[in-house]
Amino acid sequence: MAGVVGGARRGEGHPPPLFIVARGGATTTPKIGGGSARTSAISSRTFDSCRVRPLSKNHSAQIIVPNELAHLGVGGAVTRALIRAADPKWIYAGCVIPDGPWILQRAVHALPCAVDPYSLRLYCITQSSLLFCLVLAAGLAALAQAPKRVFTILALNSLVHLLLDACETKWGNGVDLLAPFFWKPWNLELFWPESLTSYLLTAFGFTYVIVVWWHGRRVPIGVSFTSHRRVATAATLFAAYVFAPLFLMSQPARANSHFLATLRATGHRSGQLLELDRARYVRGEHGDAIITFAGEEIGVAGVTGTRSGSVSVRGVFSDENTMRIDVLHEHWSRIRDSFSQIGLVVVALYWLKPCLDWLRRRFGDSAK
Ligand SMILES: [Zn+2]
Repeated sequence: MAGVVGGARRGEGHPPPLFIVARGGATTTPKIGGGSARTSAISSRTFDSCRVRPLSKNHSAQIIVPNELAHLGVGGAVTRALIRAADPKWIYAGCVIPDGPWILQRAVHALPCAVDPYSLRLYCITQSSLLFCLVLAAGLAALAQAPKRVFTILALNSLVHLLLDACETKWGNGVDLLAPFFWKPWNLELFWPESLTSYLLTAFGFTYVIVVWWHGRRVPIGVSFTSHRRVATAATLFAAYVFAPLFLMSQPARANSHFLATLRATGHRSGQLLELDRARYVRGEHGDAIITFAGEEIGVAGVTGTRSGSVSVRGVFSDENTMRIDVLHEHWSRIRDSFSQIGLVVVALYWLKPCLDWLRRRFGDSAK
């Protein structure tokens, strides 16, 4: 189902036929093909200028946390095959590391203050690269009683997570394994989030976390703050994790990662290719629109026959504020969101008891 690819490329004059990849992956023909002229505005909305507005609650809700359950299962199975007695707590922590920036992005969008969505996105792209996953893994491992072992587990699970992400189809998106030397996102487009493969991986992850639930839950947290040298090393690495992306985020911008350079270059977008992963499609009385992660409304040329909801699209700007969609895929966002939330709750619960035990031991002892 991943093979439905629009033929549109920059500079191609004739619009290719429009395909709709329906939920579940079947490809259907459109009701009406995309026209070259921009349709009129949606209801009261206008596309006279390219507007980026503060994200409303609806917009922030469309920024989806990836499916954590599948990551926990796959990461856990791979790690246990290579490192038999690996502590599930650290396995799960490693599984979450690459998604940390995206969870943070979601939290920042929920804040009442205004943040430039493009800069925030670039920061998250940079920080979620394998390079910074390893920096965070090294920082956490510096505080562990068995630093080499913990670093290996965290690094391995970060890598497995990113490789699994690379297999899932994400248009205009992907993982950065070779940063800071190469910033073009890598995506194999093997299966959609709404596919049998994805559901089987999720079911496997769900089964895995239940089966290993009892295993390792009483294993001590295994961290120590007694060595000043190691605490200083950890603090330096955490600072690098937070601040170094600020100095590198111009590189994914230059590589047009997530098509951010295209989106930002208002006034030069006509004829440019655009791919969006999980944008919001809104149907209107006088025309439809795509709402990007940044809250910009981009008019849709022609009628695609799709419903309002989360979609991935490929197409070309037919003018500055209108997109001619060549391929469209509808998502089932709510199901995916639920899988992710369950996965994050599992990780939190798994860490809760050892953390409480550690705090009780440390501060209980010092109070005596
Ligand atoms: Zn991910």
